[in-house]
Amino acid sequence: MGYAAFLDRIGQVNDLINAKQILAWDARTMMPPGGAETRAKQEATLTVMARDLLVSDDTRRLLDQAEAEVAHLPADAVERAQCVQARQAIDYHLRIPGALVAKRAELGAIGHEVWAHARAESNFAAFVPTLEATVALNREMAECIGYEAHPYDALMYRFEPGETVASLQPLFATLRAAMLPLVRAIGARPAPRIDFLQRAYPKDAQLAFGLSMATKIGYDLNRGRLDTTVHPFEVSFTRNDVRITTRINEYWMPSSLFGSLHEAGHALYEQYADPAFVRTPLATDLVGLYAVSGVSFGAHESQSRLFENHVGRSREFWELNFPEARAAFPEQLADVDAETFWRGVNRVAPGLIRVEADELTYDFHIMLRVDIEAALIDGSLKVTDLPAAWNAKIKEYLGLDVPNDRLGVLQDVHWSSGQIGTFCNYTIGNVMAGQLFKTAVKDTRVAAGLAAANYTPLREWMTEHVHQHGRRYTRNELLVRATGRTLDPAPYIAHLTSKYSTIYGL
Ligand code: ZN
Repeated sequence: MGYAAFLDRIGQVNDLINAKQILAWDARTMMPPGGAETRAKQEATLTVMARDLLVSDDTRRLLDQAEAEVAHLPADAVERAQCVQARQAIDYHLRIPGALVAKRAELGAIGHEVWAHARAESNFAAFVPTLEATVALNREMAECIGYEAHPYDALMYRFEPGETVASLQPLFATLRAAMLPLVRAIGARPAPRIDFLQRAYPKDAQLAFGLSMATKIGYDLNRGRLDTTVHPFEVSFTRNDVRITTRINEYWMPSSLFGSLHEAGHALYEQYADPAFVRTPLATDLVGLYAVSGVSFGAHESQSRLFENHVGRSREFWELNFPEARAAFPEQLADVDAETFWRGVNRVAPGLIRVEADELTYDFHIMLRVDIEAALIDGSLKVTDLPAAWNAKIKEYLGLDVPNDRLGVLQDVHWSSGQIGTFCNYTIGNVMAGQLFKTAVKDTRVAAGLAAANYTPLREWMTEHVHQHGRRYTRNELLVRATGRTLDPAPYIAHLTSKYSTIYGL
C-alpha cells in the first residue's frame, strides 16, 4: 500500500512537470511572441507546484512508508532505486531555501532581456551586474547544496551527478593533448569541398529528408513529431510522446539534417525507456524538475552524439544512404558522389560560435566554458575580467581573434537564465558516445546491421544497455555495465584521429 501510494504521488509530480514542459514546447514552436510574459509565469507556477508537492509532508510520509515496505528487497531492486531517487531529490530541494529559489527565478526572468540587449549591442558592461548577481547567487546555492572539494561540483550535481572539477581536469587535459595537434595539422591541409552544401535547399524537402533519416535510425513517429524552432531541442512527455525540433537554413543543409539526427538520438533514449517506469522517479529528473528518463545530461548527450556523429557522419552511412539524399535533392547533388558528400559534412573549420562548431572543435568551446565557470564560482576570475580570459582561450585553442563580445563571451543564452554548471555534459556525451559505439560494434549483429543500412540492431543494443534503464543506475554504473569501464576518452580520441586522418590525409 505504502509503495503504491508513493508511486501514485510521484506520478502526480511527473504530471505537473509534463504539463510545464508542454507549455515550454509550445512556447518554442507555436506560441506568438506576445504570449511570452504570461507563459513564463505559467511555467513558473507549475514548477513551484511540482516542487512543493514533491517535498510536502504528505509525500515524505508516503516515502517513509514506501522505504519501510521495500527495505527487505535486495539493494539493487527497482523498488529501492525508485525510493532512492525520490529521497535524494527531496533532500536536495530541502537544502535550498525557498528565498534563494525565488531569487533565481527573478534573476532568470529579467536576465534574458538584459543579456539579449547586451548581446545585440555587443556591450558586455551592460551584462556585468546581472552576471555578477548570477555568480553570487550560484555561489550561495553551492554552499547550500554542499560539496567536498570545489563549489562548482555542487552546481554540476543537478546536471551531471558525480562529476567534479577534479575529475574533469585530467579528462580535459587528455583531450586537449590529443586534439590540439589534430586541429593544427588539419589547418595546414586543403579543406574538402562544401560548395554543394551551400546551394538552395528547399525547406520542405530538408524537413522531409531529415525526418526520413531520423526514422531510419529508429525514431518512432507514432510517439513523436518534428517541428521547426530557433534553438533546436528534444522534449518528452513520457516515453509515449517524445518530440524533436530542428532549424532550417536554406543555404546550409547540414544544419537541419544533422540537427534532426542529433535530436532523434536524444529521443531514442526517452522512447525506449522501460514502459514500467512511466510517471515514476526512474523516468523523472526530480532534482531538476524535468521529465526525462536519461540518467544525466551527459548520458543523454551520448545518444544524440552517437547517432549524429558516429552513425550519421560515418563513411559507411553515406555509402549506403547517399542515393536517398540524391533522390531528395537531385539538382543540388547532381555533381556530387557519396565520398565527396561524406567529406564535406565532416569539414573542420575552427570558429567563434559554439553552436556552429564542427565535431572536432566543439569540445574546445566546452572546455573553455567549464574552466571559466569554475573560476568564476571559486572567485579566481572576476566577472569584469571574463572577456579577456575568454578571448585568450579562444586564441590558445583555436588560433582565432575574437573581434567583439557578441561573438565571444555574450554568445550563449545559459547565464541569462541564472544557470551555471550546465556545460560539461556535451564533452562527457562525446566521450561516452565513443565508448558505447566502440563496444556496440563488437556485436556482430550491430556491425552487420550498420553495413546494410539497418540501424535496428544498434538501436536495440543501446536500448538493452542504456535506454531501458532510465535513471536506475548512476552514469558510471551504466557505463561499466555497458562497456566495462568508467569514463574513458581513448575510444573517442581514436575515432576522431582515424576519421580526420582519412579525410585530411594526415
Ligand atoms: Zn544534444
